[in-house]
Amino acid sequence: MTIFGFKILLIMPLNGLSLKSFCVAEHKDTKTTQPHQLPLYATSSFVFDEVEESIEIFTGKKQGHVYSRYGNPTVDTVAAKIAAMEGYQCDFTPFAYLTSSGMAAISTLLYAILNAGDAILTQANIYGGTTELFNKVMSRHGLTPVFSRFDDLSEIEHCIRQNSSIKAIYLETPSNPTLDCVDLQAVAGLAAQYGILTIIDNTFCTPYLQQPFKYGIDFIIHSSTKYLNGHGNSISGVILGKDASLESRIKTTLKLMGATSNAWDAWLLNNGLKTLALRMDAHCKNALALATWLSAHPKVERVNYLGLPDHKYHPLASRQMAAYGGMLSFAVNGSMEETLSVMNKLSLCVQAPTLGDVDTLVLHPASSSHLNVDESLRESFGITNNLIRVSVGIEDTKDIIKDFEYALK
Ligand SMILES: *Cc1c(COP(=O)(O)O)cnc(C)c1O
Repeated sequence: MTIFGFKILLIMPLNGLSLKSFCVAEHKDTKTTQPHQLPLYATSSFVFDEVEESIEIFTGKKQGHVYSRYGNPTVDTVAAKIAAMEGYQCDFTPFAYLTSSGMAAISTLLYAILNAGDAILTQANIYGGTTELFNKVMSRHGLTPVFSRFDDLSEIEHCIRQNSSIKAIYLETPSNPTLDCVDLQAVAGLAAQYGILTIIDNTFCTPYLQQPFKYGIDFIIHSSTKYLNGHGNSISGVILGKDASLESRIKTTLKLMGATSNAWDAWLLNNGLKTLALRMDAHCKNALALATWLSAHPKVERVNYLGLPDHKYHPLASRQMAAYGGMLSFAVNGSMEETLSVMNKLSLCVQAPTLGDVDTLVLHPASSSHLNVDESLRESFGITNNLIRVSVGIEDTKDIIKDFEYALK
């Protein structure tokens, strides 16, 4: 109730309520000094003191939260932090929305910015789930994927000229698990000439190692389940963009498809973000040491790590990345059976189908992440049956190497 502009809070006397109702009613927040750590707003909705306030918030005249699918203070705070990171030293501040997963970020963004009849130009060697989303879901809704190699700019241009329906380019750099890179500045420049939007999955790098907005990319998505969280204890994603005219479409699509994140996952992500720089430095240092050690091992056929000067994409990575990351893959000099037995002999390193956690994780791409990719296509990308992917953790470097030394014996 407001009298002469003063808000009078009517507080029910305790003895006016039955104990039963008292159990149910929420206590008014005891206003205190700011909490040191981000509060976890575990609430589906927000209350209004007066109906006029709810009208102002619903009509956008006043800032405020209504319902957690539309926005939640914990979730929004973490999104703003990631926006500041991706936009660091850019001449604009990007917008950012947290989503329920990396896949939710990809699907929500594409459904928001594209229309039925549009085509998406993409690489064949991107995250398996993304390829499946394109082929099994989006293609049934009039959004057609067009696959091309992205190592040759003229091939991209050829595809664009052949197909006027291409409205977006979707890419990953470096790619999984062979770490091929795409020249961000070149692709963004070419796309801009044709009025085509560019989207990158920046999960492998995080803004600490690569800031795609600086090269002219329009949209960034993350699976923040991986390095941004870093501890493997929540699933979430992020959509970032700079074009304010498309922001409201993204926000509306997110809200109506219900792909929003939640306070608990956002809170865990925020906790992980605090050590992102420390973790990434340690991932990069350990990965370089392991890659160097593996390259000199007689039972190793080849090593894919961007920090090794003989990697095909070492010069490009040196230009557009701040360091070479924590991911590597290597081929064992032997059969698939021998390769799997190397994996089974590891004891410190864990076999888990994820990446970017603090512990070292190994995976056999040919029989897991790339199982559904045709064998000849898989081999043409260097994903052979003797290839092991390693997400190098932050353990002591010597211990990681010792584990591989034993396993390769
Ligand atoms: C894991 C991953 C995804 C999917 O993210 P989820 O959080 O599992 O939905 C997308 N892209 C890349 C590169 C990934 O590693």
